[in-house]
Amino acid sequence: MARTSGHGNPSWTRDETILALDLYFDFDGKIPSGRDPRVVALSELLRQLPYHSEASKRDSFRNGDGVAFKLQNLRQVATGHGLGNVSQMDRKIWSEFHSRPEAVKQMAEVIRANIAAAQAMPSQEAEEDEEFFEGRVATIVHNRRERSRGLRPQLIEARRTAGGLACEVCGSTGPAGSDALAEAIFEAHHIIPLSAASERKTRLTDMALLCANCHKLIHRLIASEKRWIKPDEAKALLGFKLKEDGG
Ligand SMILES: [Zn+2]
Ligand SMILES: [Zn+2]
Repeated sequence: MARTSGHGNPSWTRDETILALDLYFDFDGKIPSGRDPRVVALSELLRQLPYHSEASKRDSFRNGDGVAFKLQNLRQVATGHGLGNVSQMDRKIWSEFHSRPEAVKQMAEVIRANIAAAQAMPSQEAEEDEEFFEGRVATIVHNRRERSRGLRPQLIEARRTAGGLACEVCGSTGPAGSDALAEAIFEAHHIIPLSAASERKTRLTDMALLCANCHKLIHRLIASEKRWIKPDEAKALLGFKLKEDGG
């Protein structure tokens, strides 16, 4: 595993490693302390990344020491000394960019601008009419939890092992011929009501595998009916409505 800061925090992504390399170049290979203002600024930025919303609740997640440690990892790659803690990503980014600090600076600016842009459009998180009765924040958390890295691939793997991928509402199996393409239509949906979900760690048995259409529909149903609806009930409700609509 490519852990860099330990404590069970997620591995550094490509974006994050580029931001760290930009800072490494700024310091000209010297390693600052975890309390250096520029290190603290990067730590604060990384903690705001939308895809790390769950992890960023931990104090140790991308804190100043973690950022300083990452700069040390990058120096290890750069100098070839003490390579013990270096990740694949560190090596990859270094080999791609070690001679192009201007390119790194430019990419870091694009990444920063996009973090700011993502924060400026919270309405993208949940459509008005898909907001659950528990409120917008709860809906955002539900959506983020469903999109958190790891759960969907685990669910897909489990279903594949159990016999194949199929939407638990409409039965769609996606286009034939390519497993990778068929997989693209599926999303993970939490079947546990938000009030109960906040108290427990997500398990695979809390998830349903739905096609993107049915996932949108079940969210719309929960929002409009103002109660929790499980995939089985959605199947009945939607089947009935589809039959009526179709004459
Ligand atoms: Zn479906
Ligand atoms: Zn869902």
